[in-house]
Amino acid sequence: MTNPLMTRRQWLFGACCLSLGMSSCVSSETIEPVAIDMEAYPRDANEALARLIQGNQRFMADKPHHFHEKSSWRSLLVNAQKPYATVVGCSDSRVPPELIFDVGFGDLFTVRLAGNIIEEDVIGSLQYAVAHLHTHLVIVLGHEGCGAVTATVEEMLNKAEEPKHIESLIKSIKPGLSKLDLKQDRESLLRAAVEANVRWSMKQLLALPEAKRAIQERHVVLLGAVYELNTGQVRFLD
Ligand SMILES: [Zn+2]
Repeated sequence: MTNPLMTRRQWLFGACCLSLGMSSCVSSETIEPVAIDMEAYPRDANEALARLIQGNQRFMADKPHHFHEKSSWRSLLVNAQKPYATVVGCSDSRVPPELIFDVGFGDLFTVRLAGNIIEEDVIGSLQYAVAHLHTHLVIVLGHEGCGAVTATVEEMLNKAEEPKHIESLIKSIKPGLSKLDLKQDRESLLRAAVEANVRWSMKQLLALPEAKRAIQERHVVLLGAVYELNTGQVRFLD
């Protein structure tokens, strides 16, 4: 269990010592005189979530702090990482998790594929994040205007067909959109489809015994969210 009073700088310094085989460590002050962000490591998923929401609010207000970008911080990450949340997002160039949550290097473990789909290698990456890096918070992050979701809706409406490998994405997304009312207006339909796709990804994760156990035992909190392109807001789903 992570010591809640331990800053990540201390944790990372300890990890560096371990990786270097050092039996004891002098104060980290002696090797890292440069002032860097000394925020405490979040104690649980709630604290991690609060930090991300605050970061998103700074981002929306055009007042980002740009924490954890300087070389002094990056040097602490050379031998170890201790991200406090995992994001399963889309590859879309307009939705980079670190920017929209105003966080920096080492803060998030991210897995990005078009349409924030769940497939075997995504699950493997998530298992690594939870089992080895011990991130307590996992967010499935969809977004407005998602091309993969739009292509899936188009196929459902018009039977249009995409090239083979894009079809593979559509095949992953389509089951989650099966209950949508395809007769509603296009804007509402696409909005509903993005949200349904996030819930579908979450459902697939929740079907995994390992994930179910981790959530039941409260090691991990799984949340869904949608990033709004216009406002920059990350809207968490109920
Ligand atoms: Zn997308």
